[in-house]
Amino acid sequence: NKKAKASPKNLFQGIRNQNISALSQSITLIESHKPSDTEQSSTLIKACLPHANKSIRIGITGVPGVGKSTFIESFAKFLSDQGKRVAVLAIDPSSAITKGSILGDKTRMAALVSDKNVFIRPSAAGKALGGVARTTRESIILCEAAGFDVIIIETVGVGQSETTVHSMVDFFLLLKLPGAGDMLQGIKRGIIEMADAIAINKADGDHLNQAKIAQTDFKNALHLYPKNQSGWQTPVKLCSALKNEGIDVIWNLILDYVHVTTANNYFSIKRLEQNKYWLIQTIANKLSSNFFSKPEIQEALNQQIELLERNRTSPFAAAEVLLKLKF
Ligand code: GDP
Repeated sequence: NKKAKASPKNLFQGIRNQNISALSQSITLIESHKPSDTEQSSTLIKACLPHANKSIRIGITGVPGVGKSTFIESFAKFLSDQGKRVAVLAIDPSSAITKGSILGDKTRMAALVSDKNVFIRPSAAGKALGGVARTTRESIILCEAAGFDVIIIETVGVGQSETTVHSMVDFFLLLKLPGAGDMLQGIKRGIIEMADAIAINKADGDHLNQAKIAQTDFKNALHLYPKNQSGWQTPVKLCSALKNEGIDVIWNLILDYVHVTTANNYFSIKRLEQNKYWLIQTIANKLSSNFFSKPEIQEALNQQIELLERNRTSPFAAAEVLLKLKF
């Protein structure tokens, strides 16, 4: 005996009344793949949109073990103590690849579970990154309509997940470990370019000196990069998520960023650019999946692949043939 599903109207009312159960149900609705749910989910998003856009959206990334959950726990607690309401969402590419999860473990962030100001939603396991990205984008809107002041989106440094998160947040925080090892191993260059701040976590006890070395290394490395379009220079800070040190410094940094980029209008330009990006992405994804799902295309594709194998066509010529097909 399933409980009757709430209508979009009731869900919307619940969200506006900051009812967490309504918010959870709404996210489940937008995660649903059932065609019958799609229309309801669009109705709900549309209703929420005029009430969205008012939070600060923060992306947090770093390798497993760097201390993301410990950091988010301290950070959200710090904000909650100031009366701020914080939503934590996750994009976990591992769940798409292995059906397992690096981020979605229920015991994580235990201290936040009982905090009334904090809402935590792990990413839906087993979904492709594109699907998780869409639902996370829409979950941001729902959370904003539910009055959350800060939205944190967590991800790990796997595949495209960082780029995905970067394209939906205002501020992107990269957590790193103490030690110079990273610089020698070479880190993904693009990630440094995306970061609005780097925090060397675990800057405590025996790690403190190593953390300071890493801080200097990153500062030096950042000098090689041109200044961001935002007019913002990426700072490198130390923190200890475990000891609750430096958390306030990072929050103040984010407030500074919002201040600077609001003054020069970059903040809203970036959000608009992100919306345009997601519009194009969504169309491209839809067209591509429609295209490849057609049996006629699959058949013709197989033929072209055969020709390709026998060296009778080039990838580009084959693509032209396929794109000219009417279906
Ligand atoms: P995640 O995989 O990035 O989410 O990392 P976790 O938050 O699970 O932390 C991994 C390990 O590092 C845990 O054992 C934490 O207790 C520890 N840890 C996290 N932050 C700190 C810190 O600031 N200092 C120290 N010394 N350990 C930390």
